[in-house]
Amino acid sequence: MSAQTKGEKAFRGTAVSAGVCRGKILVLHRARHIISRREIPEAEIVDEVKRFEQVLVQTRKQINEIQRRVLQNLSGSEGDIFDAHLLMLEDRVVIDEVIRQIRDEKTNADYAFHSICERYIAAMAGAEDDYLRERAADMRDLTGRVLDNLLEVKDSFDLKHLTEPCILVSHDLSPSTTAQLDKKLVLGFATDIGGRSSHTAIMARSLDIPAVVGLQTISDELENGDYALLDGYNGMVIINPTDKTLFEYGQLEKNKATLDEKLREIRSLPAITLDGKAIQLSANIEDQHDVESVLAHGAEGVGLFRTEFLFINRETPPDEEDQYQVYRQVAAALKPQSVIIRTLDLGGDKFVSSLQLAQEMNPFLGWRAIRFCLAQPELFCVQLRAILRASAEGNIKMMYPMISGLDELNQANALVEKCKTELRAKNIPFDENMEIGVMIEIQSAALIAESLAKRAKFFSIGSNDLIQYTLAADRTNIKVSHLYEPTHPAIIRFIKMTVDAAHKHGIWTGVCGEIGGDPVLTPLLIGLGVDELSASPPVIPEVKYMVRRVKMSEAQALAEFALQCESPSEIYARCVEFARQTAPSLFEKA
Ligand code: PEP
Ligand code: MG
Repeated sequence: MSAQTKGEKAFRGTAVSAGVCRGKILVLHRARHIISRREIPEAEIVDEVKRFEQVLVQTRKQINEIQRRVLQNLSGSEGDIFDAHLLMLEDRVVIDEVIRQIRDEKTNADYAFHSICERYIAAMAGAEDDYLRERAADMRDLTGRVLDNLLEVKDSFDLKHLTEPCILVSHDLSPSTTAQLDKKLVLGFATDIGGRSSHTAIMARSLDIPAVVGLQTISDELENGDYALLDGYNGMVIINPTDKTLFEYGQLEKNKATLDEKLREIRSLPAITLDGKAIQLSANIEDQHDVESVLAHGAEGVGLFRTEFLFINRETPPDEEDQYQVYRQVAAALKPQSVIIRTLDLGGDKFVSSLQLAQEMNPFLGWRAIRFCLAQPELFCVQLRAILRASAEGNIKMMYPMISGLDELNQANALVEKCKTELRAKNIPFDENMEIGVMIEIQSAALIAESLAKRAKFFSIGSNDLIQYTLAADRTNIKVSHLYEPTHPAIIRFIKMTVDAAHKHGIWTGVCGEIGGDPVLTPLLIGLGVDELSASPPVIPEVKYMVRRVKMSEAQALAEFALQCESPSEIYARCVEFARQTAPSLFEKA
């Protein structure tokens, strides 16, 4: 029975791209490849291998074409997704294994390719690492495309011939399918699987199409033509919405439009409280393509440039010139605003195949970030020289992640001095006074903040790690997520201790973990004396809106309350109450 003949029904999933849309459903079922094993006569084996190799070339051309189209419509980082596909397509290990199987076992290419890829996909999909799991989706996408070509199936999803606006529903949407969506006709999309950091979600956000993923069985339950409302704020898909629901959503959209207008008005205004305290509001970025978004969202420079993403998705680490070009580009584009480059923070949950990090029992407590860099001074110095050279072209500052004690800071600074000497000897310009800061993300660093403050130009609190280490709650483990509480009194005290030590020694403190981008916590953080907040660009307008409506005296009173309160949930509830009273419009869309 179609959902049309039933009443209202809501599906709950994960909101990955904001916005609300309503319209008719189009369910996409990926054509299933029927693959059977055939024995290839000896005399035809050479041709079968040739056929496989020609299909790889054909697939490469198709991906290049999709990538070209994506780059026309989106930023470079979305096009990069297809670089990963192209790399997989050239993976000699897989290709040689397929050719060996065709030759040795005399099997058809589609059978050999499918069985080998399925084995790799299953291994990746079962990995603990989020990044690897998401690459399984990329590999599945690529495998499907190669099989389409081997079996001469036309594009599994033909989205070029949509004639009327619709909401796409599917088990999964691959990045290459997503890239072909016509924004005018695709109102939104909903999938059974996927998560916030999947590439499909990232592309939905870039295309600005509302999307909900992780809806479990929605693609089986709905039929073409069902009428639905998709809520990309709260992660809901409502089939056959009643008039009451439609009315409520109408209100929500109106509120959102009004809020967007208010946020646009303050885009180029400073983040300054009602009683005149200026807060530096900076952006967190991962590569040079994010600069556009930094400017579009009214951030004042970059407070955290996570450089490890330059090392991901490639076979060898980037060399000094590669890194220099990226840092230089960002610094030049944002000049005179400052760009804080964080030195490499690999390890933990950030895995890079080109550096072959060994498996560890406790990766978050293991060989990561500054520990890894100090143990490999050559690799570290490549980055330090690239950063120093780029400092001649803009306002660059640098900070070290995961500092646990003075020795690490001293050792890292000694390597910086060595790199400076090398550059001077070659007459290569750099900023002699480039400021170096320390991330405070381990309790030991917060406890010795006074000693660190005497030797650093600024602090940046990495609250994501500070919370996980202080509360011994793995930030990626859902089973202990209830313990991961930003408003735990221990966290509040560590922040206060860090800020006080910094101010006593005349330096400033920022917060660049996720709490820096949560408007509910903005008043508490600035009340505790935090001078800078750094967050992902899209959340900056809301944080700025909050800052501009807060009175410092009231934020300080909230911080005073938090410092003497013993309950994380009571502190959080007080923050919510304060935030709602201070900036009600921010909360009317949810
Ligand atoms: C943090 O720990 O808060 C932080 C900003 O660093 P990352 O999330 O990259 O570990
Ligand atoms: Mg960190």
